Amino acid sequence: MSLRPTVDFLLYDWLNAPALNERERFVDHSRETFDAVLDTCERIAREKYAPFNRLVDTQEPHFDGEKVILPQATHDAQKAYAESGMLSAAQDYDVGGMQLPYTVEAAANAFFAMASVSMGSGMLTTGNANLLMVHGTPAQKQVFALNEFSGRFSGTMCLSEPQAGSSLSDVMTRAVPDGADFESDPLGPRYRLTGNKMWISAGEHELTENIIHLVLAKIPDENGKLVPGTRGISLFIVPKKMVNAGGELTGERNDVALAGLNHKCGWRGTTNTLLNFGEGRYPVNGEAGAVGYLVGQAGKGLHCMFHMMNEARIGVGLAATMLGMAGYHASLDYAKNRPQGRPMGPAGKDPAQPPVRIIEHADVKRMLLAQKSYCEGALALELYCARLVDEQHTGADHSADEARLLLEVLTPIAKSWPSEWCLEANSLAIQIHGGYGYTRDFPVEQYWRDNRLNMIHEGTHGIQAMDLLGRKVLMEGGKGLKLLAERINGTIERAIQVPELAGHANALGQALAQVGAATKAAWATGEPTDALANAVPYLQAFGHTVLAWVWLDVALAAHVAPESSARTGRLAAMRFFFHYELPKIGAWLQVVSRRDQTCAELPEDAF
Ligand SMILES: Cc1cc2nc3c(=O)[nH]c(=O)nc-3n(C[C@H](O)[C@H](O)[C@H](O)COP(=O)(O)OP(=O)(O)OC[C@H]3O[C@@H](n4cnc5c(N)ncnc54)[C@H](O)[C@@H]3O)c2cc1C
Repeated sequence: MSLRPTVDFLLYDWLNAPALNERERFVDHSRETFDAVLDTCERIAREKYAPFNRLVDTQEPHFDGEKVILPQATHDAQKAYAESGMLSAAQDYDVGGMQLPYTVEAAANAFFAMASVSMGSGMLTTGNANLLMVHGTPAQKQVFALNEFSGRFSGTMCLSEPQAGSSLSDVMTRAVPDGADFESDPLGPRYRLTGNKMWISAGEHELTENIIHLVLAKIPDENGKLVPGTRGISLFIVPKKMVNAGGELTGERNDVALAGLNHKCGWRGTTNTLLNFGEGRYPVNGEAGAVGYLVGQAGKGLHCMFHMMNEARIGVGLAATMLGMAGYHASLDYAKNRPQGRPMGPAGKDPAQPPVRIIEHADVKRMLLAQKSYCEGALALELYCARLVDEQHTGADHSADEARLLLEVLTPIAKSWPSEWCLEANSLAIQIHGGYGYTRDFPVEQYWRDNRLNMIHEGTHGIQAMDLLGRKVLMEGGKGLKLLAERINGTIERAIQVPELAGHANALGQALAQVGAATKAAWATGEPTDALANAVPYLQAFGHTVLAWVWLDVALAAHVAPESSARTGRLAAMRFFFHYELPKIGAWLQVVSRRDQTCAELPEDAF
């Protein structure tokens, strides 16, 4: 079974991606150029990633006392990815990019996430370099970003610290000016950083010539104190190896040391590190302190970071989706081949009959359809959000602003919904395999372990939920929520005209009204402690309503397609979602609307 027909259907029959080519930025593109990118990525993923997915899980990165060693397959895969030009796919032609719409870039990257999510397809490097293209100086772009796009250097994001995970305002890494001439360095105002960064993905390896860390740190005030809160946070480029203004390595190591590798539950193809900055292990010019170059203005570090958050979160949602999809395809294949049990007839089971394949049991079909509805629905959502990113960047003013607002509201869902429900899909894939699914002889347990990360990083589930109910649905006087409701109502109006979809359109209308009422009820007292006590059930109900909308909209496109088994499957997945999933929102929204304090008020000693 191939992913490609689903991607093609969503890109071309549903989102009409080639319509983007009417825009000046994408005028050289066509369906043929999009297909060529998809073909290339599908091929590299099949040849260089998929065959090594188990290998990178069993041969975890290890430190030999000097270097972090990764399997040769990871080197080969990342080289092939860089050579494909995908690292700079969205960039301008004059810096070597393809000016590819993000919608197509995201779709193409889906193949890598499905083939081997942890071997990495450059999400961190691209995100790091994209940020520098927006906030960096011309020299920072030239020396750091362009070398990342070419694959010569790679990038990291160093936000978290041992004591500062969800709460970045507690960051303690310090940055002090490096000498009297610190402002005249050609690579930007030069500082010395000291502190520890925890959980840094791809923080140490030999895959590229250099590693470019983007580090959040605080510049102390005149009394040497760190400014509390997020206001004092600045952003710095800290290369692992020192470079000159021409981008050449000077031969000197920067004062960034690997303190240890984290041994993870899954996603083992990517190193995860504790890094010590400025402890004096590698003094620069005889002094301790990691050399870092300020990006943008001092105190605006989080603002710069958040610039790339929408795309990073769509990337995480897409990774979660594709891990779910990998499990779905594996369990479908298994279910078609595993004989077990006999069909139920009017007189019960007939032991004289040969066993059937498990796909013939209704409960196994239920588990398969659940996975299909979660994963193909989530893929549609991610591509819809990617299309909004293109709209925000290249649409006319009004439409670009609407896309921005919709992304504000939808991004917590794009990140969190697949992280929860495509993980559930992985659990169902294990269930379909029975005992075999619980062994390492089949791939499904690895998909689950890899996917378990996604509810944790890039903002935990709880933090995303509070962002949605505490900020996003309220922002600009509730404008984003209203706009989303308008889009959902637009789909309902079209679907109500189609007899086969009218009942679902009505159900979606009721769900939307329930979410609206629960939002008001949650905030009825105006007290965040009342409203946010049940932010996660709200996120779940909101997410299910958004997915029901996406499925109904996809069904409108499927409905007009010629008869085929793919069409039948899509319409069945939509029906499954409406019959088995959407009704769940009632329970979730009940505790939200009542501002139920059962959890919030329980004293610690009663647990
Ligand atoms: C494999 C992996 C890769 C990572 N990669 C990177 C990376 O490349 N760069 C980077 O900077 N970071 C990275 N992270 C860090 C990741 O972003 C953090 O783990 C995450 O932000 C949570 O922080 P924490 O682990 O300290 O958990 P905590 O913040 O301590 O949270 C623990 C639990 O408490 C809950 N909680 C915390 N605060 C609140 C609150 N105010 N209200 C309600 N509930 C709350 C959380 O939801 C969570 O369930 C990575 C993490 C992992 C595991």
